[in-house]
This record gives sequence, structure tokens and C-alpha cells, in this order.
Amino acid sequence: MSLVSCDTGRWASNIQTIGKYQMEYTAPKSICNLCKSEFTTKGIGRHISSCLKRQSPKTKNTLTKKYCYLSVRDIDNSDYFIFLLISQDSTLDDFDTFLRKIWLECCGHMSSFSYKKWGEEISMSTKIQNVCNAGSTLIYLYDFGSTTELQVKLYGQFSGFFPKLEDIILLSRNSEPIIPCDECGKFQAVHICTECQWDNNGWLCEKCAKTHECGDDMFLPVVNSPRAGVCAYYGEEEKERPIPKSLQDTINDKKDKIKILKLK
Ligand SMILES: [Zn+2]
Ligand SMILES: [Zn+2]
Ligand SMILES: [Zn+2]
Ligand SMILES: [Zn+2]
Repeated sequence: MSLVSCDTGRWASNIQTIGKYQMEYTAPKSICNLCKSEFTTKGIGRHISSCLKRQSPKTKNTLTKKYCYLSVRDIDNSDYFIFLLISQDSTLDDFDTFLRKIWLECCGHMSSFSYKKWGEEISMSTKIQNVCNAGSTLIYLYDFGSTTELQVKLYGQFSGFFPKLEDIILLSRNSEPIIPCDECGKFQAVHICTECQWDNNGWLCEKCAKTHECGDDMFLPVVNSPRAGVCAYYGEEEKERPIPKSLQDTINDKKDKIKILKLK
């Protein structure tokens, strides 16, 4: 058993089997954006619900807005989560745009919302107020080939005051999970070899990456997203994105390749 350590912030410990190692690793706590307090992945949901209740208008003239309160989690790894308020007037299309921007967009794949996985799609023009029923769950799929599946839990309507009444208010997002290197098990992985990850060996620390036999044109960066290492996902930033040679052909084969042209 190895311990992956990191020298910033406060950490919650966790034991998890990742690839061929079972290890204790330390996960950073996540911040509630309303009060700036830190919580573990398990505690943050309950905290945000109670913290939201305290956000009542300070004066009668204060503007409030009707929102839907919800959370989104990666179906395969609940360390990746976001808690949101989204205005009741927004559409699923607006929500989709937000999810792509923060977590998913690699090359303009198709996506869908439904009540069951591969069940009937809910139209993207549907308003949030029409799906915002406390206790319901939506399934969101991005890319019908190398699919990223997210679970959207709806907690119901919320009317509140915020300094800015934006359509989407990010209440919390997970801090980046620390995932150990598959080769040495000692240091935090920073690169993902797209060739080796099929054998659970692709997550590499800086040191092991230097001598890795596949070469760095196979690498994708480790980023704070459930789509890390998938297709051509480079993270949130819009910038010049080199695409690994190994992925070019795969991408060119896909039907939904609309936006990849911009990336070249
Ligand atoms: Zn709070
Ligand atoms: Zn892609
Ligand atoms: Zn290593
Ligand atoms: Zn490799």
C-alpha cells in the first residue's frame, strides 16, 4: 500500500482500488461557494442544502429568482460532482452547454437527457421548470461512442437572493481527486497514455512519463473532469489543442465530428 501525498490544502483520506494498486490516497476537500467552508465529498451535499436555506433576501427590495437546485455526478466515480442552481427559465440545452464547457467538450459529440439510460430522450428545448421535480433523477450522456454518463439529481425549486442573479450558479465543484501513477504507484498521475489506459496502466506521473515507451504524442493531460483520458479531452480551457496522432483516425471516423475541425 502506498501513500500519495500532496503538500497543499487539507485532505480527507480515502482507500480505493485504482488500476492494479489498492492504496490509501488523500483527497482534497471541496468548497461551498456560498460560505467558502470546506467539506468532504460525503458531507458537502448535506451542507449545501442547509447553507442554501440561509440565503434569504436581506431587504424587501432585493431581487430574487426562481431556480432549480440540482447536483451532477459521474456515474463511475462519485469524486466528480457539481452542485448547481439553474434558473427555471433555462432550457436543457443551456444546461448541456454548461456541462460541455465545465467538464466534457472534446469534439462536439452528441448528447442527451433522459429518465433512463438509453431511454426516450427529453427534448433539449424543454425548460428546467418542467423537469425540476424533487426526487427525480435524469441521466445525461455525452458522446454515444466513448460515452461519459452523468447522473443529475433534482432537489426541487429554490428562490433566493444572490449578489448576481446569473442563470447558472455554481454552488460547489469537487476539488481535483489525486490519482496515483499506475506504473510506480508513488506519485500523482499527470499524464494519461491513451494506448495503455485500456490495460489500466495509462495514468502516469511526470517521472514515469519521461521513460514511457509509447511516447508523449499518445498523452492526454489529467484534468479535473470525468472525461479525463477519454477521446481528445484536454480540459476546460479553450486553447490550441494538439490532438494525439493515435486519436486522429478515431475522431475522423466519427459521424459527429463537427467541431474537431476548429481544433486542428
Ligand atoms: Zn456553505
Ligand atoms: Zn471527442
Ligand atoms: Zn510513476
Ligand atoms: Zn503507453
